[in-house]
Amino acid sequence: MKTFILKNEFLELHVSDYGATITSLKFNGSEQVLKYDSQDGYANGSSYVCATIGRYANRIGNSCFRLNGKEYSLVPNENGNQLHSGPHSVDKRNWDAEESSGSIKMSILSPDGDNGFPGNLKMSVTFSLIQNSLRIDFEGETDATTVFAPTSHPYFVLSAPRLAVNSHSHLELDGGNIPTGRVLINEGKYDYSSMRELIDALDDCFILDSQHALTLETNGVTLDVFTDFPAVQIYTGEFLGSPFSPRDGIAIEAEFYPDSPNHCDFPSTVLKPGEKFKKFVEYRFS
Ligand code: BGC
Repeated sequence: MKTFILKNEFLELHVSDYGATITSLKFNGSEQVLKYDSQDGYANGSSYVCATIGRYANRIGNSCFRLNGKEYSLVPNENGNQLHSGPHSVDKRNWDAEESSGSIKMSILSPDGDNGFPGNLKMSVTFSLIQNSLRIDFEGETDATTVFAPTSHPYFVLSAPRLAVNSHSHLELDGGNIPTGRVLINEGKYDYSSMRELIDALDDCFILDSQHALTLETNGVTLDVFTDFPAVQIYTGEFLGSPFSPRDGIAIEAEFYPDSPNHCDFPSTVLKPGEKFKKFVEYRFS
């Protein structure tokens, strides 16, 4: 396990090659993310604390999908569904790291059949500091048609939060947190069209109207999130396990919609040989 450090006048980032995980992110010297005290926490924890998730972030219902007429069965890890790509996925593996000035690129090969997904998939994430922003670039290539929908799973310290989201709608979920296919207008607890206190629990996928996804005030900072992913999962950490307590952190996950491979009207997550997947998320602190 090795930790890589990037620093500039505003931010200090520590990233571990285990899970391509952010193990510290300080803005003006103050810690902004949840972190474990030791490696054991990252190895044994089940909350995906600040790790990189792939191949498929969020849930796939009944752990199966059809692609090109073939049915793929995935390894389930949550009530028959698959969450965050199944057990012992890339968030719990060692990545290859490459440092260059101002950025760290981490890469991993997820082999054909990995937790049920087709194709040898090469994925990489590049962490860069750009003034007061942490930018994360995701890339992927496959040798057989597959689905690819990674995310980064940082939990920001949650304290006196206020939130505004550039979104008019979110996905309706069933009792297992799987999208029903219906898209609902943001009303009541989902209406963050202007900045207001974040009180209710959220574990929801908001469909984005803009690359400026949201503004979150928490822990004495303002965090603006930008992305070219179509949605953001906002999760207020209700199930965070020891040593954390529920609502210690908020995960802001820029991503595709959950269960897209089973919904032909959701943005496609299909990746074909010869295509280069590229998406980014940027977390800007002030
Ligand atoms: C999901 C939560 C889940 C958590 C696990 C989040 O991305 O939205 O439902 O409990 O990951 O850490």
